Amino acid sequence: MPIKKAVVIGGSMAGLFAANLLNRSGWDVHVFERSKSELSGRGAGIVTHDGLLYALSACGAQVDDQLGVEIHKRLAIAKEGDRLAQCDFQQVLTSWSRLLDYLKVAFPSENYHLDQEVVSINPGDQKALATVQFANGSSVSADLVVAADGLKSTCRRILEVDSHQVYAGYVAWRAVCDLSRLSQASQTLMGDTFLFSQRPGEQILAYPIAGPDSADQVLVNLVWYRKTNEEKLKDLLTGHDGTHYADGIPPQKIQSSHINDIQASADELFHPCWAEHLRQAESIILQPIFDSEIQSMCAGRVAFIGDSAFVARPHVGQGVTKAAGDALCLDRHLRGTAIEEIPTSLRSFSEERLAVGRMAVEHARQMGAPVVISPFLKDGGHWENYYSQPENLIRDTAVELEGVVTKDEASAFE
Ligand SMILES: Cc1cc2nc3c(=O)[nH]c(=O)nc-3n(C[C@H](O)[C@H](O)[C@H](O)COP(=O)(O)OP(=O)(O)OC[C@H]3O[C@@H](n4cnc5c(N)ncnc54)[C@H](O)[C@@H]3O)c2cc1C
Repeated sequence: MPIKKAVVIGGSMAGLFAANLLNRSGWDVHVFERSKSELSGRGAGIVTHDGLLYALSACGAQVDDQLGVEIHKRLAIAKEGDRLAQCDFQQVLTSWSRLLDYLKVAFPSENYHLDQEVVSINPGDQKALATVQFANGSSVSADLVVAADGLKSTCRRILEVDSHQVYAGYVAWRAVCDLSRLSQASQTLMGDTFLFSQRPGEQILAYPIAGPDSADQVLVNLVWYRKTNEEKLKDLLTGHDGTHYADGIPPQKIQSSHINDIQASADELFHPCWAEHLRQAESIILQPIFDSEIQSMCAGRVAFIGDSAFVARPHVGQGVTKAAGDALCLDRHLRGTAIEEIPTSLRSFSEERLAVGRMAVEHARQMGAPVVISPFLKDGGHWENYYSQPENLIRDTAVELEGVVTKDEASAFE
């Protein structure tokens, strides 16, 4: 049987999960990443789940005891420090860069190509292979193309796949601070706890994560969701150089008045540990929150996975785990498939995973309701009320969602 050839577009999480799994299933896999330099974490944390660890293992990634920081409790506090809700909860919290390292080490480096921006695709069909063209003029044909090119997916746009990206009406301010820079009182609150506070239109949380080189260095990852109308968003995305960065503003370009404003607002709205963290953080990142949904996760020989297919708001903490689950499902549907049958297998993959993506997006909208109620959310008032209760918020944030990763003993732990 000829070796089947797969091209993966995007060398981040979804791309590397798919590339590793297909490689281990015997495909000849090449990853093409647009970035000119090695991808590096934008500094924030990732919540792990059993399903994510399972997927890493299925990829052959050698996860060691440096994966992250283990915490045992969750706590919601009021401005004056009163405990509003508390629960025992064991979870390992890691960082984006650490996960990327595990996945990259598992994949043959000679098949991972940087500085390869895809500009055109012919999706192929039962008879014809798919063809991908790059900005440098080169092209490559393959039996399968995996579009893992993120929220703003070029592949989705070129192939005119029906999809919707909707601004959720709020942003996340994200910041990471070395635990040792905080006062003793804040270290006690933030050092080993998933900590929350919220008010109408505002939700703030923090948890410890491993430092870039070792889990012995503890950093605290903070995420603050703030209701922000489109006009204000435009201003936030306009840098101090006057440029409007519609696709995301580099942290060093954010106007200092906006940073001063959130630090002052934290003083005014929340317990002092939050403002202290924001003042001690090395840099502060702005992320507009979007819901993104696709109507089909395939076109011809092209499969859409990860953020190129669905983006659920970060309240559910599923970005990386969902990408892993998409890749596991894709690999399972393609096992034993003849080359001409690949488009058919992709349709059954799409049918199975659309339900998962929709469920994650809907659940994330429910969790975001106390910040802004989405017009697409059924029973918005109910969910606003439900997740304004601190015990519901701390219990449901970033926990494992059933079905996001389907475990398949045949592919893991071989
Ligand atoms: C550098 C980086 C840091 C991140 N840090 C965090 C974090 O700290 N916390 C968190 O929760 N989430 C983070 N995310 C998002 C998170 O990784 C995703 O939500 C999730 O893992 C799904 O990833 P994805 O691979 O589908 O999409 P993405 O991670 O967005 O990756 C898409 C990849 O495709 C590449 N690409 C796009 N267009 C093209 C093209 N035309 N040709 C070739 N390549 C293309 C992009 O350069 C990118 O590497 C980060 C993403 C990136 C890229």
